[in-house]
Amino acid sequence: MMEEKRDIKSLSLEELEEELTGKGLKAFRARQVFQWIHEKTADSFEDMTNLSRDLRQQLSKEYDLVTLTTEDVRISKIDGTRKYLFGLDDGHVIESVWMKYKHGNSVCVSSQVGCRMGCRFCASTLDGLVRSLRPSEMADQIYQIQKDTGERVSHVVVMGSGEPLDNYDNLVKFIRLICHEKGQNISQRNITVSTCGIVPGIERLTGEGLPVTLALSLHAPNDQVRRELMPVANRYGLSEVLLACRGYFLKTGRRLTFEYSLVKGVNDDLSHARALAKLLKDQQGHVNLIPVNPIKERDYVQSGSKAVEEFKHCLEKSGINVTVRREMGRDISGACGQLRRRFMEAATKGRIDENESLWDD
Ligand code: SAH
Repeated sequence: MMEEKRDIKSLSLEELEEELTGKGLKAFRARQVFQWIHEKTADSFEDMTNLSRDLRQQLSKEYDLVTLTTEDVRISKIDGTRKYLFGLDDGHVIESVWMKYKHGNSVCVSSQVGCRMGCRFCASTLDGLVRSLRPSEMADQIYQIQKDTGERVSHVVVMGSGEPLDNYDNLVKFIRLICHEKGQNISQRNITVSTCGIVPGIERLTGEGLPVTLALSLHAPNDQVRRELMPVANRYGLSEVLLACRGYFLKTGRRLTFEYSLVKGVNDDLSHARALAKLLKDQQGHVNLIPVNPIKERDYVQSGSKAVEEFKHCLEKSGINVTVRREMGRDISGACGQLRRRFMEAATKGRIDENESLWDD
């Protein structure tokens, strides 16, 4: 059997130096290769023109340069948001989104193919987890998008398909790669990691020394409602999750974002808003309200704009910082993971069975 080639795009500069010096090459070669991969974002070893032909050939024999293929791009006529469907080496597909803001360009990256967290309203989790993405596959979402748009990406949100803290080591490697000064040099402060609330993962990230913004998918002001929407709440209760969040803030000084998707008749009335205000009064952070994006597999309905405004107003009255998230690319997006699902359904023309989530009790 042929030995699998090492994924060179996932290696840190230190690892690459070790690899190449181990083969008798000079350390500066590793820096050159790293810059070709992460700064100039070369798609092939052939493009690395300041390396000798022999070296380029040796590299392509021994290493795999992971490059995503663009299967589909949809561009919003309303705000220019672009939604990408990328193909991976093994035939799976993932989604990424590019959004243009006044403060810069932001990419929403996927961290896994599918997801095993089982949140009821989310399309990404309906078929369970296929596999986690490698650092190279996360980084290349950004690199390919930058090439397609011709514009620099300054902000990254790990809010696409998957649970980033369920792919912890690869997530941290990915963040270090895209923030490396010899790579894209994206500011760590401009990275947001969104989690459904895996407490050991939050605690580990607290000690990681990365000043990234942590976003917690809260979606409910108490454990009972939260368990209805998010199976992970069966494993980690709110008091434990919020304690970990508080610890994150105290250690990193980074204010948190609390995401709250409003679902009509489930978590959107004023008693919920009041309970939420009470729950968050000691937290440093702000609340992002997102009217839930309905998916056809579930019958959750979006809260009306009046309910959203009242909810927001109630939080504001209690001194909570709150924004209603602007819906970007409304004409192209649908909910997270839906583009991929539509693509797969068309490809398989079959029914997709629903897997159980990891946390169902
Ligand atoms: N697993 C991570 C990140 C991925 S989802 C997490 O749970 O945070 C990014 C955000 O979108 C999460 O807050 C998630 O709960 C929310 N989300 C997923 N599907 C949604 C939908 N249909 N409508 C509104 N928000 C949704």
